Amino acid sequence: MNAQRKYPPAPEEIKFEPKVLVVGGGASGILSAEKAAELGLSVVLIEKTGELGGKAAQLSFLYQSDLSPSQWLKDKISSLEKNEKVNIYKNSQLEKLKGQAGNFKVTLDLEGKTEEMEVGAIIMATGMELSSNLPAEVDKGADSFLSQMEFEKQFSQLASGDNKTFVLVVKEDDFLIGCTNAMKYSIKLKEANHNVYVFFDEMKVSEEGTEKLYHQAREKGVAFIRGTNNLKIGQEEGNFTLTTIDPQLPVKLAKELVINFDYYIFNEDLLPGADTAKLAEIIRVNMGPGGFFQEDNYHVEPVYANRAGIYFVGACRMPDLLHNIQEQAGAAVNSIYQLSVADVKELMEEIPLIDVVKCVYCLTCYRSCPRNAIDLLYEIEEAAWNGAPYLHPLSCQKCGCCVAECPNRAISFPGYTDEDMQKEFKEIGGKA
Ligand code: SF4
Ligand code: SF4
Repeated sequence: MNAQRKYPPAPEEIKFEPKVLVVGGGASGILSAEKAAELGLSVVLIEKTGELGGKAAQLSFLYQSDLSPSQWLKDKISSLEKNEKVNIYKNSQLEKLKGQAGNFKVTLDLEGKTEEMEVGAIIMATGMELSSNLPAEVDKGADSFLSQMEFEKQFSQLASGDNKTFVLVVKEDDFLIGCTNAMKYSIKLKEANHNVYVFFDEMKVSEEGTEKLYHQAREKGVAFIRGTNNLKIGQEEGNFTLTTIDPQLPVKLAKELVINFDYYIFNEDLLPGADTAKLAEIIRVNMGPGGFFQEDNYHVEPVYANRAGIYFVGACRMPDLLHNIQEQAGAAVNSIYQLSVADVKELMEEIPLIDVVKCVYCLTCYRSCPRNAIDLLYEIEEAAWNGAPYLHPLSCQKCGCCVAECPNRAISFPGYTDEDMQKEFKEIGGKA
């Protein structure tokens, strides 16, 4: 018979492994790895493709800075590659995950070799996919029609010369990235003496600096026209035309607007990364209705997963701008630091306790914990059923769901057992 173990495990048995796994080698993963290494943590960064940099490496310019994104990323990658705290594996993936915050046991496919390791926390930075849908009436291969990313890659070539006409269309699906891109392109195009029309449904300027960008574009003569539903694309004598009626004008004043254009630039659909659902299942975290990873609380804890010790940075939770991603990486790493210095003994005094004699091992608590904070332990001396669930102190968020769900009333918060409550009730004059 195996040795019986004490329940619950002593606080000294709960250790934070000072190593962070970063999944994804785009800008979000690179920034997260950099921040974690700065805090003195070891970092294992895995990227499923053979290249680091992701989509940000294909950008031509940023809207708030004169930095070249590709050069900026190259510098970051080369400094990470030299950093002794950071191990980078390309063509590598996360395959399995066990354990809890502070001590996850991960199985990785590292460049074709399976390896297991322990990590204290995980940052998911797996990015998103772009789907470029050509307007329905345009033949594939028409090189006047480009998605924003295609345009970005060829920007300097297409913007050369002058007096070309660019139509930038931002459809409703994505305001933040699509609108910001349209504004940054239109300013550069105007500076190069081109004609620019921006058609949009909603102009989102809530991000830092974007309202200024909008005014700058207006001052430079960019025509912003609201409404993308009535745009009709045609061809006259080999040239493309766009015909529309400004929906903002009263019917009597509305005149057909016909624009001969050289390039039509449209925003892509921004979709969750292809592996998001598979990874969500492996690491047991929630996905939102759009198929991205779902943050625990959009306003209060935007980088936290529903499981402690797992964080989402960048477009894997929601498409975002680079400076926001930088902040998210910092927030995730700060939280990892807090986890690493948490007082386990103190936490154990605050989370619910399981009475292993009362527990009938039905696993209702295990199934109902929204944080997946409960492990199952076996060979427990006092337990009626030999095994018992164990609420992990670094993972439990003290929500009380397990307390409410336990059919045998075997779980209670310290100081709030049935006996404690009855005693207090009597003290204030209540009758049992
Ligand atoms: S209190 Fe909430 S988070 Fe903690 S183990 Fe119970 S259900 Fe899970
Ligand atoms: S719900 Fe209650 S009885 Fe069931 S396993 Fe959990 S603690 Fe035990």
